[in-house]
Amino acid sequence: MAGEILAFDQNCSAEYALRGKYERSVLVAGGAGFLGSHISARLIAAGRRVICLDNLMTGSLRNVRDLAESPNFCFRLHDVIDPIVIEEPISEIYNLACPASPEKYQRDPLHTFQTSVRGAENLLMLAQAKGARILQASTSEVYGDPETSPQQESYRGAVNTFGPRACYDEGKRAAETLFYEYSVHRGLEVRVARIFNTYGPKMAHDDGRVVSNFIVQALMGRPITVYGDGSQTRSFCYVDDLVDGLMALMASPPDCRGPMNLGNPVEFTVLELAQKVLAKTGSHSPIVFRALPTDDPRQRRPDITRARERIGFNPKVALDQGLDATIAYFVGTIEADEALVQRVS
Ligand code: NAD
Ligand code: UDP
Repeated sequence: MAGEILAFDQNCSAEYALRGKYERSVLVAGGAGFLGSHISARLIAAGRRVICLDNLMTGSLRNVRDLAESPNFCFRLHDVIDPIVIEEPISEIYNLACPASPEKYQRDPLHTFQTSVRGAENLLMLAQAKGARILQASTSEVYGDPETSPQQESYRGAVNTFGPRACYDEGKRAAETLFYEYSVHRGLEVRVARIFNTYGPKMAHDDGRVVSNFIVQALMGRPITVYGDGSQTRSFCYVDDLVDGLMALMASPPDCRGPMNLGNPVEFTVLELAQKVLAKTGSHSPIVFRALPTDDPRQRRPDITRARERIGFNPKVALDQGLDATIAYFVGTIEADEALVQRVS
């Protein structure tokens, strides 16, 4: 892997920065992850230069391999909890660096908390030094287990500060506060997006979130693991719609700092999702019921009025359509992995 990182690193040299050939760069922290790799691809396609900063904790170089062909893309292996030094000029920073799957963010909860808080502040300080606009990937988890539905931005949330999800929920809440303070007291141009469950190609096979779990289980003929009785709800947004929203928020006028809900407001139960995945994959996997994780929110649905009015956000991809594209991606990657295993064994 070291060799691969070196190959990715070739465009990150100071010499590159000094050429001054390009407009100011965009920094995507967490750029090798699911959402970050989609944003990076869209920025590269639009002719922007992208610095992808990632510790590869849950992300993968596979997600950005095709981008490495571009002279406008460079990869930096770095943990955002450590101070960040970038030589070249930067105009925009997307902070997506944080594990998002409950299974993954609970694996090293203290690191998750540090990532959310110290990582956010390191990026805010970088934004200040560079005069860059900075967008925070916050989350519907700031609403905790909501007592009201749909959730509006004005809702203060019902979060357990003393439980296994708190490292993520409270870390993200504290990060929002940092963004607020840097905006009010240091004059930074900030944007805060509260992202609701988003899915699509480039999710990791072992990510642990519900959409990728169900699809991989169905395709591999393994039992579909529904936690609880499956009556809890989520509103699933396809990645292309979400990326439209994030980029529109970044490009919005300075008074549009948020927080702003971004997600698809159509709500499904987890059991309905399992049944859809089974029908679409033609899988005969049985559905098995497992214990509901502690503090698992009962319901989640965004009110996106603010995003509609302020940035014209209008998610277009229905769950059926998005699942088709996501299933096709997983079929392709599972087949590619199996072919590789056969070649090397
Ligand atoms: P992901 O796990 O696929 O991507 C996160 C990326 O951040 C990975 O590449 C990972 O290696 C990197 N990372 C983690 N900790 C880091 C650290 N300390 N330093 C540097 N890099 C680090 O998750 P995702 O779904 O792409 O989520 C991206 C962001 O969006 C996260 O901040 C997450 O909280 C937020 N978000 C996502 C969703 C969603 O449904 N996808 C919902 C709400 C919020
Ligand atoms: N879930 C499930 N089976 C799985 C993974 C998740 O039933 O294999 C449930 C989980 O308990 C939650 C919902 O699906 O109610 C969404 O979980 P996910 O981890 O995707 O994200 P969350 O919304 O909890 O952050």
